[in-house]
Amino acid sequence: MDGAWRQSPWECLRVGSTGHVADFDPSATPGFGGDKSDGKKVLGDIGDELADLQERLFANGRSGDHRSVLLVLQGMDTAGKGGIVRHVGGLLDPQGLTVTGFGAPTKEELSHDFLWRIRKALPVAGRIGVFDRSHYEDVLPVRVHGLVPESEWSARYDLINRFEADLVDAGTTIIKCALVVSKDEQRERLAERLERPDKHWKYDPSDIDERAYWDAYLEAYQAIFDRTDSDAAPWFLIPADHKWYARLAVGQLLLTALESLELEWPPADFDVDEERKRVAAMD
Ligand code: AMP
Ligand code: MG
Repeated sequence: MDGAWRQSPWECLRVGSTGHVADFDPSATPGFGGDKSDGKKVLGDIGDELADLQERLFANGRSGDHRSVLLVLQGMDTAGKGGIVRHVGGLLDPQGLTVTGFGAPTKEELSHDFLWRIRKALPVAGRIGVFDRSHYEDVLPVRVHGLVPESEWSARYDLINRFEADLVDAGTTIIKCALVVSKDEQRERLAERLERPDKHWKYDPSDIDERAYWDAYLEAYQAIFDRTDSDAAPWFLIPADHKWYARLAVGQLLLTALESLELEWPPADFDVDEERKRVAAMD
């Protein structure tokens, strides 16, 4: 059957089964049987299910349930994080969604510990939070460029694990997606950004400088996967040369995470029969 998942991305994209990021094929479409148009159709269906489960999560949050969901997006420049936010986030009700992008830290943010700005942006009960970059930047450019001493960044993996474990204990479901784009595809995307005035705003000359550190970034990413993947806060590698596939895969992972919450509608906190009578008696 074309156009359907043959293997769950939860299994085939989890870092434990993908192998090393340096050997990963960013142009593959693992687990999916269809092409781009099938993928778009399936993402639409996923959207309907996501919207239903998101509403249940939100309703439960209103009724005292502490649960929330956090989707962490990482990836090299041009990998398509913004497109995921637009196309997967766009399937959700903005009321129940918080999207936070993390750029180079401000002076104020630098005066606090690296998790300070992250804690402030966490999704509250009933919400889905999406992080476009995250606390993992503090072991990516920071490690690659030695922005703090090694003794400091190397301690962060354990700090991150503890931070995420506490979050999970408090009711947040975490999924972490690393979008993996190939060097060739990045070249194309950077070139396209220059050719199109409507994409100039996305072009950042420093992306070219960062490209020179490609292998160091892959190494830093691999260290993250080796040290911070767990069943409670799993990492997935998302092949991102095909944008349609990356969006579909992240949408499906988010759906699987929401399904695992087994969300029911919250019970009414009033006497339904009694209220029916009152409504029937209204003038
Ligand atoms: P963009 O996502 O294109 O808006 O770029 C954000 C930039 O901020 C990227 O170059 C990131 O690597 C950088 N950035 C984000 N967080 C940090 C951090 N904690 N330390 C240093 N650079 C960061
Ligand atoms: Mg950028």
